[in-house]
Amino acid sequence: MKRIMVALATLLFFGFIFSSGIVAAEEKSKQYIGLHDRVLKFGQDEIQMVDGKSFVPLTKLMDSLYATTVYDDKIYMGKNNRVLIYDYLTGKTTADDVESEETPIRDINGELFADVSYIATSFGFYFEYFSELNVSRIYSDVYRSLRGSDYKKHMDVLLGNVTPPTKPVPVPPTVPQPEKPSTGEGKANVYLTFDDGPNLFTTKNLATLKKYDVESTFFFLGKQMNLFSEIVENVAGEGHYIGSHSMTHDKDKVYASSGSFISEMSSGALLIKKLTGVQDVPKLMRVPYGSKPHLTPGMKGELKKEGYKVWDWDVDSNDWRYSDKQYSEIIKNVQNGVTGAYKSGDRDIVVLLHDRSQTAIALPQIIEWLTKEGYTMKKYNPESHVVQNFHRDAEL
Ligand SMILES: [Zn+2]
Repeated sequence: MKRIMVALATLLFFGFIFSSGIVAAEEKSKQYIGLHDRVLKFGQDEIQMVDGKSFVPLTKLMDSLYATTVYDDKIYMGKNNRVLIYDYLTGKTTADDVESEETPIRDINGELFADVSYIATSFGFYFEYFSELNVSRIYSDVYRSLRGSDYKKHMDVLLGNVTPPTKPVPVPPTVPQPEKPSTGEGKANVYLTFDDGPNLFTTKNLATLKKYDVESTFFFLGKQMNLFSEIVENVAGEGHYIGSHSMTHDKDKVYASSGSFISEMSSGALLIKKLTGVQDVPKLMRVPYGSKPHLTPGMKGELKKEGYKVWDWDVDSNDWRYSDKQYSEIIKNVQNGVTGAYKSGDRDIVVLLHDRSQTAIALPQIIEWLTKEGYTMKKYNPESHVVQNFHRDAEL
């Protein structure tokens, strides 16, 4: 009996050491979140493994997926025509009216974290965990992405597990080559865009843009233009591009039907022409709340019929979330977003900002940083249209 007890105790003891050793190793291994063929920017403290599932901060995940998120008495999250609802009171999450039995969204140290696999599959993406890479990958058929061993090879290089084969050093030409003239172009184009004006902060942003000699793009609301027509004239007068952002910005009105949609959007464009005296009706628009999931095939058809184009964005500054005092968060979001977009190969980076107080405070430092990093700030140019919409529709 005594011998059995000792054996049992020994087993338990070693079992404990052994299992705790495994836990420690598991905790130490670096985790990654992948979207299609990219690696999303999450710090190691932002990826929490719970029961073998990766959880990341909810807000950041929604932004990375370009999901539409509304924070109200509950959190409403929309993507690919699917809706997720998180109830603060019960802590329950519902996907398309089906309540999850688990807790895919949960409070971890005072911040809401979301189960990456649950969110991905609820939004109609595929999810796969690559244990040899420690990558939780979200992907879909819509976006052309690598599969199987090609993906593994690609990720090994991306994560620095292996160094890519170096190209043979080219033999220098015997005839001396004339030095390439500098084109004066930066490493990538950055398009600063300002939504929801004109208002008094438009004037502040306008002054900052003038000070730094930067041209940008404004998406104005009809109801605001009727109040501040002088600001519309000033913005156009300083050479910036103005596009329509609808008349009312009211989700229920704008997206009620294809008819209401095109009327809301084109009335704004016609008003811009009227107020600025610009020859053509501005063709570039930004639809309220982003083109996904709101834009239906019928609405897209209406836009194309009129030759309109739609810009969403590559980088969301999330400026509306912050107070004046928190303006440095906006700068950080732009820096991280632009750096990430540039590293993923994007050379035309569209940044979403708003005509708001906190944004006006952050803008000078945003421009200074972009200049220092070698980016070229430009306004939208209809002569060389850049496709930037969440539907990846080349005709928009
Ligand atoms: Zn807006």
